[in-house]
Amino acid sequence: MLSDRIGRITPSATLAMTEKAADLRTAGVDVINLSVGEPDFPTPENIRLAGKEAIDNGDTRYTPGGGTLNLKKAVIEKLSRDNNLHFDVSEILISSGGKHSLYNACQALFQSGDEVIIFSPYWVSFPDFVSVTGAKPVFVKTDSSLQYEPVMDDLKEKITSRTKGIIINSPSNPTGGVWSNKAVLEVLKLAEEVDAWVFSDECYEQLTYDRPYISTATLVKNTEKVLTFQSCSKTYAMTGWRIGYTAGNDRVIKAMGKLQSQSTSCPNSISQVAAIEALTGDQSNVTFMRSIFKKRRDYIVGRLNKIEGVKCSTPGGAFYVFPDFSAYFGGGNIKGSDDLSLYFLEQKAVVTVAGNAFGSDNNIRFSYAASENDLYKAMDLVEESLKELL
Ligand code: PLP
Repeated sequence: MLSDRIGRITPSATLAMTEKAADLRTAGVDVINLSVGEPDFPTPENIRLAGKEAIDNGDTRYTPGGGTLNLKKAVIEKLSRDNNLHFDVSEILISSGGKHSLYNACQALFQSGDEVIIFSPYWVSFPDFVSVTGAKPVFVKTDSSLQYEPVMDDLKEKITSRTKGIIINSPSNPTGGVWSNKAVLEVLKLAEEVDAWVFSDECYEQLTYDRPYISTATLVKNTEKVLTFQSCSKTYAMTGWRIGYTAGNDRVIKAMGKLQSQSTSCPNSISQVAAIEALTGDQSNVTFMRSIFKKRRDYIVGRLNKIEGVKCSTPGGAFYVFPDFSAYFGGGNIKGSDDLSLYFLEQKAVVTVAGNAFGSDNNIRFSYAASENDLYKAMDLVEESLKELL
């Protein structure tokens, strides 16, 4: 009955865990949810106020399909200010979240017969974005001891004339890894050799803790085939407002806009006004959130590495850690990350996401977008439950 296209999509594992946590909460269990992919802070007040004013001012109608001119100008200002990237209005598209932008770009560029390189561990949505177009996701290994930078020999082996695209996501979900400029440049060079598109998913670009973020498109002269994706979601704690954007080649932007106009019509009008305030207004909340996340990262990495058998590298960005628990797999009932994640949930009501969903069964993703108190408690519970396994 259903189309082949739908059969190629797997449900989001991260959203599934969030639902499980909600079910337990409804049942009265005191759950600590470290599976979330969104800041635990409220949207800053200036942005909320801008949204309220937008409603009162009547900004409640359809906007142009690819977003309002004023928001595109705000994006241009932001990209120039924070990322040293310079674009024209025709090179910007506003979408209903970064996810929507990435989905549309895959639809606009990829089709059956194409291959698209995805670095593993990967964000759960990338393989589905690609396979739903009929193209084939090709997974390339990364090095956990080097911020999950690509294993270049593996990349060189897998990149061919069929490679139509390469998706970079630094800082990464699920690993938090932030690649060096050298690694990004090497990928860009290899992409250029086979004339492939490079997607740079930069939705965590404001969340780097050890050095300022360098946007991919600033590293090369020829940016004809580099598309930059950013979002208001993580930077401004605006996940529910659904505003993301793409910057790059105007022909692709136009094609994505066409697709968008025949699917979602336009991004939410009220959110677009609020996003202008987010991108061009007071940025002090971004600095504030970053400093809190950094403290939490240091805490959680320290705690995890003190647990016998757990290995956790220090990620340079985002709000995730991706420790290796393989020392606990094998005998007994815990065969891999799905079993261990379920064990944490059932024994201690700590919600995590199994690495399996991200293509890495040795690991479990913990989000530290949670209160300090929850993090302390969760680490105690994880430590306790692992002792019970020894
Ligand atoms: N890219 C990555 C790597 C993400 O983790 C997410 C959200 O979790 C997104 C893109 C999309 O976020 P949004 O659609 O809220 O902008």
